[in-house]
Amino acid sequence: MEIVIVLVALAAVVLAIGVTVGIGLSHRREGPAGIEPPIPADEIAPGGVATATAPKLEAPPIAPPVRPSFRDRLGKARGTVSGYLAAIRSRKVDDETWDELEEALIRADVGVAATQRILGDLRAAAEADSVSDPEDLLDRLKAQLKSELASGDRALHLDRPGSEGARPAVWLFVGVNGVGKTTTIGKVAHQQQALGRSVIMAAGDTFRAAAAEQLATWAERTESDIVRGSEGGDPSSVVYDAVQRGAARGHDIVLADTAGRLHTKSNLMEELRKVRRVADRDPGNVTEVLLILDATTGQNGLAQAQQFAEAVDLTGVVLTKLDGSAKGGIALAIQTALDIPIKLVGLGETIADLVEFDPDDYVEALFT
Ligand code: GDP
Repeated sequence: MEIVIVLVALAAVVLAIGVTVGIGLSHRREGPAGIEPPIPADEIAPGGVATATAPKLEAPPIAPPVRPSFRDRLGKARGTVSGYLAAIRSRKVDDETWDELEEALIRADVGVAATQRILGDLRAAAEADSVSDPEDLLDRLKAQLKSELASGDRALHLDRPGSEGARPAVWLFVGVNGVGKTTTIGKVAHQQQALGRSVIMAAGDTFRAAAAEQLATWAERTESDIVRGSEGGDPSSVVYDAVQRGAARGHDIVLADTAGRLHTKSNLMEELRKVRRVADRDPGNVTEVLLILDATTGQNGLAQAQQFAEAVDLTGVVLTKLDGSAKGGIALAIQTALDIPIKLVGLGETIADLVEFDPDDYVEALFT
């Protein structure tokens, strides 16, 4: 009898352990909602195949391919002007309305000169039409801002007049350190590949070892070819080698990183001019020189843009970090003061967070 009791107790214990372990395992496998837990991004190889031995990547995880919207990502910049807009909407148009509009635009870093010109034009037209409804006035402001931003060639070109079909096209990325050059090159590679083009990266910032490392991470992540030089080596020869290899391997575009800092500013600008000259040598064909600007630096970005524009003929601006910027008006300042089209905008850190600049969406996101 005692033996039977002991056996029954043992069986109960074994059963209880089995059930507990079973539940634990099934939870781990399915997760609480019965969904397969995601594989951590650093365990996903560039080809999308999970592997435990993949090197740990520093770049942020690949986001789902959802196009981020200006409306969703410009919350911080909208916050800068929303209080003023609420005050303007609360009464008929009067002198104070104009002061509030001026402060709103200057706070958003549209810049004093651009703000005064824009509001001067708007006021003249509004007074001529006896506009008193604040909504009417704000609609006119938005329409004017959209038209200020409407001009400019925002396309990214593979060809240049007179050298059609020459490949590879070279796109140079210039700008000071930390603005998001490497990240943008990774994002652009991803976009161009999605369009069926093959790219090769050139780690032209030989001044900082970390820059080449970071670019290599993006090359791995996007499965792109890359040419790296030795630290402190000649950036022009890295870009030249990338052009040669790009031509030999049939790549469409060389995405060339450049240094953001050298011993002196004049060195840097001189070097950029040289990189451009060398990149343009047959079979290379420089079709884009893109200045990367960090939107959170506001008016400082404008000064940087002026310096780079003097050194190399810029074809466009990529405005990064607009998602984290309270100074979203800088896009207006750049385009109106420098007449350089903003071609792309960074709205976050992941690979999908780069979109074409859409003036209408941008103005609506900022002033609604
Ligand atoms: P580089 O020195 O110019 O090459 O700059 P990096 O590409 O290393 O970028 C510097 C930092 O800015 C990194 O932490 C990036 O993840 C971040 N970054 C780049 N673009 C964006 C963007 O559009 N939005 C946000 N929020 N962060 C960005």
